[in-house]
Amino acid sequence: MSVVRTVAGDIAPEALGATLMHEHVLCDVTPPPIARLPDREIRFEETDAIRRSWGVDHPGNHRLNDVDLAVAELARLVEAGGGGLVELTCGGIRPDPEGLRAVALRTGLPIVMGCGYYTEAYAGEALTLKGVEALAADMVAAVREGAWGAEVRAGMIGEIGVSDPCSRAERRSLEAAALAAAETGAAITVHPGRDPASPFECVRTLVAAGADPARVVISHIDRTFFDHAAMLRLADTGCVLSFDFFGIECAHYPFAPEVDLPNDGGRLRAVRALLDGGHAGRIALSHDICTRTRLCRWGGHGYAHLLRDVVPMMRARGFSGAEIDDLLTATPRRLLTLA
Ligand SMILES: [Zn+2]
Repeated sequence: MSVVRTVAGDIAPEALGATLMHEHVLCDVTPPPIARLPDREIRFEETDAIRRSWGVDHPGNHRLNDVDLAVAELARLVEAGGGGLVELTCGGIRPDPEGLRAVALRTGLPIVMGCGYYTEAYAGEALTLKGVEALAADMVAAVREGAWGAEVRAGMIGEIGVSDPCSRAERRSLEAAALAAAETGAAITVHPGRDPASPFECVRTLVAAGADPARVVISHIDRTFFDHAAMLRLADTGCVLSFDFFGIECAHYPFAPEVDLPNDGGRLRAVRALLDGGHAGRIALSHDICTRTRLCRWGGHGYAHLLRDVVPMMRARGFSGAEIDDLLTATPRRLLTLA
């Protein structure tokens, strides 16, 4: 029987509606240099400055730890027609499986949880001290039994964090993800390095370890590829390309000051280029919300942005209903069905 494994139990793939493929609902992605500092209040008049700096010097902005707030924010997604969300908070960025299940039960939204480890800078020794077999066993147990000490099961592997350059531990993490995917049938999401060579290296490593590229999602395409030719070459490997910065309309990117991030229009032009290049079924869409200032509570766009604001843009730009359905529903159903 084919199922999608949500934090509230297994469901039929057809029960998933329009699904955001890369989000965080409960997490702590505070940059390591300020990780030990307590939350600093966010005053309304400084929200734009914090958003523009990505909150790199504002402790607390990267902490999403309020279940009641998460329920209120996700209620807007449900109201906008949302029918699923993948929550990729994994080892190193403080996953909260019980909290996620509570949010799923209170909102009725199908939430699929990830597993495995984020980058070495965040995961530390929990990642570096483990070999490939131990890492793979952890991921298999997360999908089959429960993750992080809870009886809440993961339904996807990732986001597996990779840096520039990929560390030895991160390479083991990728190899383990391939083994765990083969054993559980779960698909894999990778957070690649920012170097455009990194996604290619990640796909090569995963495929060499036995992964099916059609079940590998490479995240953050919109901060990694700034020309369509290289992006189309990545699609030629057969992997899924995830545009998961929807809603970020600021070109400034403090982690790579030399690049101009695209806005939603630029993201849709890249998606169009992939569709025209014959890569339907290899595209995922999301917001990757992981800061307070992107939530509606602090004047941000919130989780409903793609459905509320971007889908009408897509229609106005000539995307067909079938294309939109494929991007938001059919591709997530395929990826999230345990194979
Ligand atoms: Zn993420």
